[in-house]
Amino acid sequence: MTSRRTAAPALTEPAAETAAVPRFYRVASRREDTADTVTLELTEPAQAVPAFAPGQFAMLTAFGVGEVPISVSGLGDSAGGRAHRLEHTLRAVGAVTRALHAAPPGSLIGVRGPFGTSWDVASAAGRDIVIVAGGIGLAPLRPVVLTALADRSRYGRIVLLVGARTPGDLLYIDEMERWRRDGVEVVITVDRADSGWSGGSGWSRRSSSRPGSCRTTAWHLSAARTS
Ligand SMILES: Cc1cc2nc3c(=O)[nH]c(=O)nc-3n(C[C@H](O)[C@H](O)[C@H](O)COP(=O)(O)OP(=O)(O)OC[C@H]3O[C@@H](n4cnc5c(N)ncnc54)[C@H](O)[C@@H]3O)c2cc1C
Repeated sequence: MTSRRTAAPALTEPAAETAAVPRFYRVASRREDTADTVTLELTEPAQAVPAFAPGQFAMLTAFGVGEVPISVSGLGDSAGGRAHRLEHTLRAVGAVTRALHAAPPGSLIGVRGPFGTSWDVASAAGRDIVIVAGGIGLAPLRPVVLTALADRSRYGRIVLLVGARTPGDLLYIDEMERWRRDGVEVVITVDRADSGWSGGSGWSRRSSSRPGSCRTTAWHLSAARTS
């Protein structure tokens, strides 16, 4: 009997350069957005790490618990066009996200990536932008708003349609006020309003703002609903 042996594939790049290797990022800050959702700002390690882009996601490790995919919700401060901080907004739903949710400033989190396709925000130059997001689905789209606002004159109208189950589930509520002042048309609706809520509620109101332009680029993301 003959056997065929194949040579082991040559390693063409050092393991440290691949997305397979988790790096240690430090939690620089932790902001509670809602009762079950936080935004963690992570500082990259001193060693060279791959750059992330809006729309991509990382595999975040809570050491000793597990690893989950979480989108980039911001790219922090930037020097020479290269962000050295990652922001992730995550909702505590299970073991791993609960552990990440509880990570205090100064603690270490594992980061692998980037994975996924990035939003090509620059391709919307000269056009209106419409962003439709529900629940935690706004997290990966936040970088679209921030990128467009950083170069506001390149784009036409920026319309952000946001939905959440209740007013208490709305993310980035203070930031959305700032975005409004900077010229973003923010329309917020909730499924179940409470007595203090003066915005829209229910699906019918969600379609009340129509961008109306034919030169529009739209991004749309909603959270998966499990309840
Ligand atoms: C590409 C990608 C990007 C993602 N980006 C984000 C992000 O930016 N922020 C974020 O919070 N999540 C994000 N998620 C979802 C996140 O990965 C899951 O919530 C996480 O894997 C749950 O792991 P766990 O171990 O904490 O919970 P598990 O033990 O896996 O799940 C616990 C329970 O929660 C339910 N559950 C899982 N996910 C959700 C959810 N999102 N909402 C409600 N119930 C849920 C499950 O059905 C299960 O019953 C992303 C997922 C993918 C695939």
